[in-house]
Amino acid sequence: MNSAKVDEQTLYQAATGWLKSAVDILLGAGVEVIAPIETDPGVVELAAVNSSEAVALDYVNARLPLKRLLFPVTEVLLEYEKQSDGDVDVKSEPAASPKDVVVIGARPCDVAALEALDKVFHWDYDDVHYSGRREGTTLITFACTKPGPQCFCTSVGGSPHNSAQSDVLVFLEDDGRALLQVCSDKGAKFVDQLGDVAKPAPAGSKLPAPPEVKARFEPEKVKQWLDESFEDDFWADVSLKCLGCGACSYLCPTCHCFDIVDEANWHSGQRRRNWDCCSHPMFTKHASGHNPRPDQASRCRQRVMHKFKYFPERFGQIACVGCGRCTRACCVGQNLVSILTDIETRAKGGANCDA
Ligand code: SF4
Ligand code: SF4
Repeated sequence: MNSAKVDEQTLYQAATGWLKSAVDILLGAGVEVIAPIETDPGVVELAAVNSSEAVALDYVNARLPLKRLLFPVTEVLLEYEKQSDGDVDVKSEPAASPKDVVVIGARPCDVAALEALDKVFHWDYDDVHYSGRREGTTLITFACTKPGPQCFCTSVGGSPHNSAQSDVLVFLEDDGRALLQVCSDKGAKFVDQLGDVAKPAPAGSKLPAPPEVKARFEPEKVKQWLDESFEDDFWADVSLKCLGCGACSYLCPTCHCFDIVDEANWHSGQRRRNWDCCSHPMFTKHASGHNPRPDQASRCRQRVMHKFKYFPERFGQIACVGCGRCTRACCVGQNLVSILTDIETRAKGGANCDA
């Protein structure tokens, strides 16, 4: 197959058994294959597979976000060791392994979220650890067929069929076949590797209509209120039930805060990067003891402001893809859509706080 240009959207028909072929071919070529697997009843995670048999096809979304494959929970940036002559030997960790990884079956919202991470990790500094993994990863996304009750991708510019950042968008068919929409050169290479298993779709082939995901709020209206409401009492109301546990941020596919710490003894140590979270009281605490976000109200405000005001102003996009994980994960029932619809009501002149 000729390589498709990045902006071409080329459609292929994959035969029954295409997934098994794809996994076998990739594993045979020494590629690591990551796919959704059911790890507990009703719980699906993206994990390495050694056959296509365990791949989950009918699920809403993985419990943990795709981001953790490119931006791990914890990683070593450098190591150091004190030498007998008193000098310190410092070894930088090499940039992430160039090993090829193919992720088959992440959802469109998780994949689209990488646009936000790409902007952050290539912003004022090119993060070679993130970039190395990103470049080595091919994303074969499964279009959504049954969005969950907490999904709201259409309210933040997405769709169950969003192809943003995907290399191939896969539309699974009931008979085991699939339509493959090639979205990049990496995607063209993947389809090329499938050989006769995937052929150009017949002329006039159409993609299925996306399932409905109701729009829940207008982000422009939300931002309009946020622009004027830094000091509003609303934030204290919203924060009343928040425990500051951080589950919402850790599971969010666009959240990207991290801390860098040294873990060392007298002789040697590691400098590690660990996920961090703006809901935690220590996140902004200065060495002096001063904390510019001293209460949960200011921390809840930061989370919403960052996603719907600061990030759009700096990077031109909302830092939320509407996956609904934060709402699903919150142990006290904090509901982001309720917060945002309440904000929208306020922007329109009402004030029904039911968040
Ligand atoms: S998951 Fe819920 S309780 Fe925990 S920090 Fe987020 S909003 Fe607060
Ligand atoms: S803020 Fe919530 S709904 Fe939005 S991307 Fe993050 S986890 Fe998903």
